[in-house]
Amino acid sequence: MTCDYLALAAPGVRTLQPYQPGKPESELRREYGLSHIVKLASNENPLGPSPRALAAVREALGELARYPDGNGFELKAALSAKLGLSMAMLTLGNGSNDVLELAARAFLTPEREAVFSEHAFAVYPIVTQAIGATARVAKAHPPEHPMPYGHDLEAMRALISDRTRIVFIANPNNPTGTWLKTAELEEFLSSIPESVIVVVDEAYGEYVEAEADCPNALRWHDRFPNLIVTRTFSKAYGLAGLRVGYAVSHPQIADLLNRVREPFNVNSLALVAAAAALDDVSHLERGRAVNRAGMRQLQDACRPLGLNWLPSIGNFLCVDVGRPGREIFLELLKRGVIVRPVDNYGLPRFLRISIGTQAENARLIEVLNAVLKS
Ligand SMILES: *Cc1c(COP(=O)(O)O)cnc(C)c1O
Repeated sequence: MTCDYLALAAPGVRTLQPYQPGKPESELRREYGLSHIVKLASNENPLGPSPRALAAVREALGELARYPDGNGFELKAALSAKLGLSMAMLTLGNGSNDVLELAARAFLTPEREAVFSEHAFAVYPIVTQAIGATARVAKAHPPEHPMPYGHDLEAMRALISDRTRIVFIANPNNPTGTWLKTAELEEFLSSIPESVIVVVDEAYGEYVEAEADCPNALRWHDRFPNLIVTRTFSKAYGLAGLRVGYAVSHPQIADLLNRVREPFNVNSLALVAAAAALDDVSHLERGRAVNRAGMRQLQDACRPLGLNWLPSIGNFLCVDVGRPGREIFLELLKRGVIVRPVDNYGLPRFLRISIGTQAENARLIEVLNAVLKS
């Protein structure tokens, strides 16, 4: 090869670090020849999708030769009814990752800036840098704060300038699990110029319990036209493999997102599965109950081991293992348990553990005990 394609790549792409996904089970099976594997690495729903979603997928298989509905009418209608807002405010995505990227493409340029926090979801720097825009990364709360490593809205506000077009906020945040309370986020939104788009990423919104005082930002669309709220079917709805999510925004912003969207960005199986999943309230409730119980199970197991964790209202717990998390991650891997090291998020002593079924959590706890005592 005589050509250096790295040198030819777009400047932002040249230094881009690709997203590091949770290790797939199939890879571990290949590498270690293990048969029994527990994957608690990607915040998936351990119950899987609603049976109604599976039935809808089966029914749609006969139409795979056809392009999907590029406007996603049925799913938008279902979401619109469920959320009580107009279809013109909805943008569907190939996962909510897709809509985060649409927001970046619609509003960022190499001259503009995006603001987000340290330890925030890894997709924000990727979509910002891919466009060549500048990322302004705010210091997170210190470890001794009640929301350790959580978003510090004061620090984020201080980075906003005339060049800022987007602020990315994950609420609750992944991988920390920390969240912003209603009053502080509302105050932040009130203080930001309307010319700055605020993306509130609510990928874990369905897991949030009322006591947490973590707001559902959809309620603020009337007051803040610069707000984009993103949601996904990958987490609580158990449809990560199908890739479907959505954004709720002012119709003018939705129109802009639609302009940069791939014509058929959401596949036909995802469209029908998501619509069917929305109807199955009791499946969602079962998932929430499993998550609550699993969260307690995991915390009850961490306490006697002397392990601390970050406050979390998601379906995962970020645990301080008191030594390089990657070492423990590798030891767990050898024993067939996949969790997520988060050194790449600036949290080298932590492991992010997704909440699984009772049996999966028990296996993780058993293996973690063995590794920490060896
Ligand atoms: C998992 C996750 C997403 C999105 O996932 P998709 O599968 O692309 O919908 C978005 N934001 C956060 C904070 C997440 O953890």
